[in-house]
Amino acid sequence: MNYNALSIKTILLAFTGLITLALALFITLFVNQYTTLQNELAYVDIQNQVADQVKRLNYEVEKAEESARRLKSYVELLNTGNVKEEESLAFLQQMMTENLQFSRNVYSNFIAFEPSYARRMFKQRGQLMMVHKNISLRDSTRYNHPSTMEVITRLEPSYANDPRNFWYHKGRNTRDLQLTEVYYDDEYLKMQVFSFTQGLYDNRQFLGSVGVGLLLETFLEEIEEIKLGKSGGMFVANYQDGTILSVTGRANNQQLSFLNVPERLSVSLFGNEQPSFWKDVLAENTNYKEIKENGDALYTVSSHKLEALPWTVVAYQRTDELKQTSVTQYILSFLIVTLLLVLLLVSIYQLMLKPLKRLAATFEHIQGHPGESWPDFTGISELQMLSQLFQQLGNRISDLNRERGDCQKRLQNTQLQVADQTRRLDGCQQDLDKVSVQAQNSKAEAQKARLQVQKARVEIQKYKLEAQRAKVQAQAANQAKAQFLANMSHELRTPMNAIIGYTEILQEDARERGQDEFIPDLQKIHGASYHLLDLINNLFDMSRIESSRMDLYLETFDIAPMIQDVGATVAPLLEKQSNILKVDCDNALGTMSADLAKVRQNLLNLLSNANKFSQQSTISLVVSRENRESVDWIIFRVSDQGIGITSEQIKKLFQAFTQADSSPTRRYGGSGLGLAITKQFCEIMGGDISVESQFGKGSTFTMRLPAKVNPVT
Ligand code: ADP
Repeated sequence: MNYNALSIKTILLAFTGLITLALALFITLFVNQYTTLQNELAYVDIQNQVADQVKRLNYEVEKAEESARRLKSYVELLNTGNVKEEESLAFLQQMMTENLQFSRNVYSNFIAFEPSYARRMFKQRGQLMMVHKNISLRDSTRYNHPSTMEVITRLEPSYANDPRNFWYHKGRNTRDLQLTEVYYDDEYLKMQVFSFTQGLYDNRQFLGSVGVGLLLETFLEEIEEIKLGKSGGMFVANYQDGTILSVTGRANNQQLSFLNVPERLSVSLFGNEQPSFWKDVLAENTNYKEIKENGDALYTVSSHKLEALPWTVVAYQRTDELKQTSVTQYILSFLIVTLLLVLLLVSIYQLMLKPLKRLAATFEHIQGHPGESWPDFTGISELQMLSQLFQQLGNRISDLNRERGDCQKRLQNTQLQVADQTRRLDGCQQDLDKVSVQAQNSKAEAQKARLQVQKARVEIQKYKLEAQRAKVQAQAANQAKAQFLANMSHELRTPMNAIIGYTEILQEDARERGQDEFIPDLQKIHGASYHLLDLINNLFDMSRIESSRMDLYLETFDIAPMIQDVGATVAPLLEKQSNILKVDCDNALGTMSADLAKVRQNLLNLLSNANKFSQQSTISLVVSRENRESVDWIIFRVSDQGIGITSEQIKKLFQAFTQADSSPTRRYGGSGLGLAITKQFCEIMGGDISVESQFGKGSTFTMRLPAKVNPVT
């Protein structure tokens, strides 16, 4: 497949290119820095080696000078007279032998006197004494041992007479320590020698010379052996005439044209092609300088002068050997980096790209062959994870394919059903058309019916108006009736109250006058009047209820005191019937908000009925508070054990002007209005009344009133 995006391979190659560039830059900088540092170190190294040798040679020279100074002090000892004349030569010989052992480089000690002095001191024509080491023992430890040393004595003054013996004559002009030229001792040593000599003086008179001889070969031996790398070494040259004092090129086999000096003192650098270069190098201490002579490679030289001798130590080495060639380092570094990059690429290919390709191929294959199981996948952990995800993805795709197949089947079924439904719908449409025609017909009929209904409505309106008129007339009549009843009630009550009042006065008068025979009749009049007044009151109440003119006078009052008051009111009635009233009313019942007069009237009515229809028994009044549907109710329950009421009678009990016993032979008085008014009062206040009774055994009237009566609207 072709994808229009970058592949990991491309990205990796790009990254590799970038890394290579960065590394190349880094390596260049690093190698440059490293090479510069290395070269500096190499130069410092070559300078240090020269300085070390110079230090060593200076020390050797110092020791030789010291040796010469000691010799001088031995001679001075002789002059003090502390040494006997005859022992003086033996003393000098012994001291010289011992003196010689302190420095390996000093080959000989010599003391030579002027012939005049020799004659005076030793009765000889001349006196030269020389002690030297045995050259044949040079490589053994015995070389420095006094016992192996040889003594040469010369008693004739040839040494002093021969002006070529400058080792003797140098001290004539100065008392300082003098260095002789290097000379070849062809008499005895057959070697190059140089000496430090010092003149002996008695005041200003020259008495002779003392000195030490050094073999050039042993002095420069170590330097000649020094090897610097493959191409370098060291040599010593006289900075005054450029003569090379040492043998060069011995340590390294290379034959260097300008430094090929197999013989000491045979070549002068100043005769060379570049004398000024060498003059500069020898004349002062040179850290490093580069020189290229004809056909030779580039050489680096470093020089350092000795302190007491006019000699300069020079080190030389081929520059290309001394300096690190960065090219090889570059090549090496690039090779390593390239190798690492190749390794990186190969491992990325092997570990990532190849497994990824395999994974993709496997995924494609499994998609084409759903039944086949997913093979185990080995590789780095991320790829294993990817393989698992691919596997899950593959499974999910298979599931989705299955679901898609199911869905297609379901879709086909649904399409079939839809076609069926469409067919049926067509049938329905035809039916609907038919029904539509019928509906059209029905509509016309409905129109007709609607017209008839309209007519009927007009009729009803007419009747309603008539009814309204009749109602208004009835209300007016009712009003008139109520007015009449109210007037009548007033007219009747006034004389009735007068009758009751006067009857009471007459009773009291009769009692006071002792005319007791009038009292029963007066009592009857009083009772009848009361009954009549009661009747009138009831009638008045009833008429007011019926004409809906009954008002409520709501007030909040304590229940318990009201009950006590009612009990006190009915007490005389109870006494007449020999009944006992048992009141159960908790003082904590609290208050209620109602029309107090009507509640009292209802209770008095129920209690007087209970009293009326029972004798010598207990009447109970139970008052309680109940909460039903979030409303507080006060329940008044009046029970008696009197005559009771039949279920037939109960049905009509609360109707006006109805009595349980309506027969002309009834025993109990009453108007039959009491319970009807009580019920009406209860209902006006939002309550009700009910009765339970057993004929011949007693009755219980239960009155329920809300603790907070709502005003009538
Ligand atoms: P009345 O003034 O005639 O008593 P009520 O309406 O008070 O009128 O009573 C109607 C009738 O109900 C009574 O005549 C009586 O027959 C019957 N009645 C009322 N209370 C009792 C009771 N406690 N026991 C028996 N009968 C009763």
